[in-house]
Amino acid sequence: MTTIGLDAPDVARTDANALVPTIWPRGAARREDGVVTVGGVALTEIAETYGTPAYVFDEAEFRARCADFRTAFADFDIYYAGKSFLCRAVARIVAETGLSLDVCTEGELRLALSAGFPAQRIVLHGNNKSATELSLAVEHGVGRIVLDSFDEVARLTELAREQGVRPAVLVRATVGVRPDTHDNIATAHEDQKFGFSVAAGAARRAVEEIAAADVLDLRGLHIHLGSQILGTREFEVGAERAVVLLKELSAVLGGELPELSLGGGFGIAYLPEHQALPAEALAARLRGTVERACAAEGLRVPRLAIEPGRAISGPSGCTIYRVGTIKHLPGLRTYVAVDGGMSDNIRPPLYDGVYTAVIADRDSAAPGMRVRVVGRHCDAGDVIVRDDDLPEDLRVGDLVAVPATGAYCRSLSNNFNHVPRPPVVAVADGVARLIIRGETFDDLFGLDVG
Ligand SMILES: *Cc1c(COP(=O)(O)O)cnc(C)c1O
Repeated sequence: MTTIGLDAPDVARTDANALVPTIWPRGAARREDGVVTVGGVALTEIAETYGTPAYVFDEAEFRARCADFRTAFADFDIYYAGKSFLCRAVARIVAETGLSLDVCTEGELRLALSAGFPAQRIVLHGNNKSATELSLAVEHGVGRIVLDSFDEVARLTELAREQGVRPAVLVRATVGVRPDTHDNIATAHEDQKFGFSVAAGAARRAVEEIAAADVLDLRGLHIHLGSQILGTREFEVGAERAVVLLKELSAVLGGELPELSLGGGFGIAYLPEHQALPAEALAARLRGTVERACAAEGLRVPRLAIEPGRAISGPSGCTIYRVGTIKHLPGLRTYVAVDGGMSDNIRPPLYDGVYTAVIADRDSAAPGMRVRVVGRHCDAGDVIVRDDDLPEDLRVGDLVAVPATGAYCRSLSNNFNHVPRPPVVAVADGVARLIIRGETFDDLFGLDVG
């Protein structure tokens, strides 16, 4: 290690070439003759065919993660959170694996429907759903609509009356839990935009209003605590509070609400020191908590649902970049600049997201050097990997791969600096296929009609 950053982390990552199995797709990522392969396809081949940067989507890993949740949560409804990564190919895979789908905009809903995703297995979220979104959902018979505000209760009630339909709804309750995650992805403490406060009595009033109007088919409650939560305590507290509220509501309604969705937010490993809970363990905890709480309150256990996004899509993706410049600042830091950045992965500047990187086009016996991998954008916050080791003999033209970019990278991608979005290449059984093509300058400039 030649250069150590001033804020270098405590954990030294000694083998700069290693593919840490908790971060890379299980069993599907390895080095062959030094080259990193995923799903049996060499990343060098993807770079040659599709250019860099490119998102790589490991279909087998995605399917395996859907299957893990399906098995572990066999008695739950499982909605894959489309906002983490959604395209037609993904919607079809989700449909095939038997999972349901969580969407939160007209765009996500239209995309899912255009891929033939069954509307009955879709839940629609959003803190400000438009009249168009609500009517589209009603028209197509979307399975559940999660109500988020009094304005929306009024809007959907009126729509349902007009159309003579009775859409099935859940009420999103804010249970006052502040999970240990970044502010921008914590969603269940009082002071934020989502849902009806339990503490302030808003959740109860919303339920009373919906029940009194008797136009909507009120099925139960929904909670979602936030994202990238690695512990279980928050989920347990959230579930307990939801059950207490269900009990209170059963007295008000004169009957028990039959459903409870516990939302998503299950964390994944981005760094070797992160430990994500397997779906099995998560299921046992959540089920146990709800069963105990219901027993304590004298309630039947409701039909439960979860909405994992990142835990399915995150570890299924990686991004490949080509090194363009290397700048050594003696005694300070080495900057490795690659040909992508905050337009294809905005999580580091937005959420303090952390990542690792490996050299992908060859193995190296050189010692590791501490580097900061940065993008090509005109913004000093354009960092992809804050601190990691790459081989000292890294040179311009090498390929670098960043694992665990399957969630919230392509879906949050943007055109900062008029940089076109990279393609998404799916790999499975040694075959690569394009599932989202890369943007062209014609795509970009075609929008500019001034
Ligand atoms: C974002 C979101 C999810 C998924 O979160 P992950 O961290 O990707 O699991 C689930 N439910 C709701 C309501 C969300 O907003």
